[in-house]
Amino acid sequence: MPSDRQERISDFVKPFRVEPGSKVSLEKDFDPAFKGGAGSKKEGKELLARGVQMLAEYQSRLYAQDTHGVLIVLQALDAAGKDGTIRHVMSGVNPQGVSVHSFKVPSSEELDHDYFWRYAQRLPGRGEIGIFNRSYYEEVLVVRVHPELLERQKLPRDSRGPGLWKRRFQEINNWEHSLTDNGIKIVKLFLNLSKEEQRTRFLRRIDLPDHNWKFSSADVREREYWNEYQTAFSEMLTHTSTDWAPWYVIPADRKWYARIAAGAVIVNALIDIDPRYPTIDEAARGALQKIKKTLETQAPPGAAADPFAASEDAD
Ligand code: AMP
Ligand code: MG
Repeated sequence: MPSDRQERISDFVKPFRVEPGSKVSLEKDFDPAFKGGAGSKKEGKELLARGVQMLAEYQSRLYAQDTHGVLIVLQALDAAGKDGTIRHVMSGVNPQGVSVHSFKVPSSEELDHDYFWRYAQRLPGRGEIGIFNRSYYEEVLVVRVHPELLERQKLPRDSRGPGLWKRRFQEINNWEHSLTDNGIKIVKLFLNLSKEEQRTRFLRRIDLPDHNWKFSSADVREREYWNEYQTAFSEMLTHTSTDWAPWYVIPADRKWYARIAAGAVIVNALIDIDPRYPTIDEAARGALQKIKKTLETQAPPGAAADPFAASEDAD
């Protein structure tokens, strides 16, 4: 039986989920300024703190159980808040069990391999949470918007042509299916930013000296392709939201809301996995008791045989 809190989280994330098989038109179907279910910004802060705490507890169990891994895929346009979302949402977790990988323009060595190659090497292991800041989805996004990038991939002639994007969607779905079957849960978040909010954030990066480093004129050039990206995102969401790895479209115009929403989707996925601390059987428990006896006999004069048990008694 799910607890009340688990049900609330599951209800909260429903509006973000892309129903597998549905045809998505990003602009019509998802509002970047949506803020349902979280109350005010102040209430939102408390929600986020609770979410971060839940995430830490679940991560600890995931790590101990060592059976499932979680891959968080983050996609978005520039200035949508990928970095800030990672920083806030993962602020409470044990760094030992988390890795973050940012994918940039592929190197010549990477281009010498099939397109999954560089992503496969960075997958999280069992017990780990891995975050892809950009991912193999760039292979149907930036590469689709800029055909010259596809040229650089040196594909054989028979693998090019009009069916290429449909085939890539299928390949991605198959890859994610096999990862899921093997214990890697995939959580896909698309941070959905409006064109006007992107403009404001770029201006902020220009106006605030401490933020200048974040500004890249390349980002402004990419903005010229806004419509092409919206189409590519819609196609990606339509063809790669599956029962085993659905997409979640996170309203990103308010940073505080995007963080809560992203955190909730991740916690919801962990609730689904329901990782448990491993328990031990009678025989193993008996063996532990034997070792305990031996350790107790080694207590120096004046020390309690088992100081831990003694302090437990005192509580
Ligand atoms: P940033 O995330 O701002 O550091 O920028 C990384 C850059 O790498 C972006 O401009 C992406 O479009 C680009 N990029 C990421 N993955 C790929 C890819 N598979 N092919 C080509 N460009 C990519
Ligand atoms: Mg950038």
